[in-house]
Amino acid sequence: MSSFKKPVYIKELIKKYKLKSKKSLGQNFLLDSNLTDKIIRKTGDLSNYDILEIGPGPGSLTLSILRALPRNLVVVEKDPRCIPALHELTEFFPNKLTILNEDFLNLNPSTLVKPPSRVIANLPYNAGTEILVRFLESSTWPPFWKTLTLMFQKEVAERIIAQPGSKHYGRLSIISQWRSKAEILFSIPPEAFFPPPKVKSSVVKITALSSPIHQAELKNLSFIAKTAFNQRRKMLRHSLKSLSQNIENVLNSTGILPTSRPEELPIKKFCELSERLKGEIFAHLNDKTKRNQ
Ligand code: SAM
Repeated sequence: MSSFKKPVYIKELIKKYKLKSKKSLGQNFLLDSNLTDKIIRKTGDLSNYDILEIGPGPGSLTLSILRALPRNLVVVEKDPRCIPALHELTEFFPNKLTILNEDFLNLNPSTLVKPPSRVIANLPYNAGTEILVRFLESSTWPPFWKTLTLMFQKEVAERIIAQPGSKHYGRLSIISQWRSKAEILFSIPPEAFFPPPKVKSSVVKITALSSPIHQAELKNLSFIAKTAFNQRRKMLRHSLKSLSQNIENVLNSTGILPTSRPEELPIKKFCELSERLKGEIFAHLNDKTKRNQ
């Protein structure tokens, strides 16, 4: 970290710019610099990386990122009220920070930073999963990012890292672990935020692997996982029967007990099944598109 010690106090910036938190934007600000520094330390080296931060708010995590002297930092904040507070940081870190007042969901993030890059964010709870899925469903792999360090509500973090057999295991676990390594770094109690949210939060680190752990096509894998977990208590021979009249044979020939439930199936088996059923999935998705036209 740099020896930056200027008295930029985020609480003062919040007061100065009258930043009353907006629930609709998921604004729970993290004001403890020990915690924001810890998030950055656990992320790893920033000095050779471009960093993308989503939802910097008044800039507490932003300040910790800047103190670690990244190659470049691009922040995307939807709330125009936060922009002047963020501009105050540029004074202390000239030519390091680019501030975009945009809705992240309208941008193509791969155009914002140059590789190697890392993404760091205390995400708004209402858009966190959608934002994560966009990064995971990148059409090119390895993606433009090397790591994602993201804060989620604890329950979502548990779904991301869940293993087969766990009640949290589902589609999000599968697409998070199919071509990335996902780990919970640490949890943060509600009192660390202003205002405190109703739930606990966890910081998750996702590291992109150079290639998927098993052969599959994202669209097919995602479809199979979604169809199976839509009825998570049902046996696979029931939940997948709309895909094939011979679903029991398909399952048996893939080495899966037709009576098993989706939460028992490792990612490898979901991949094999998605490859085995790729023709059926294509027909199903095609029919759906035609029906919607
Ligand atoms: N990073 C700050 C912190 O840790 O204190 C603020 C985190 S707060 C949980 C989430 C931030 O994301 C808010 O500043 C909010 O305005 C911003 N935000 C919400 N939706 C957004 C979107 N679609 N695009 C960009 N920023 C968004």
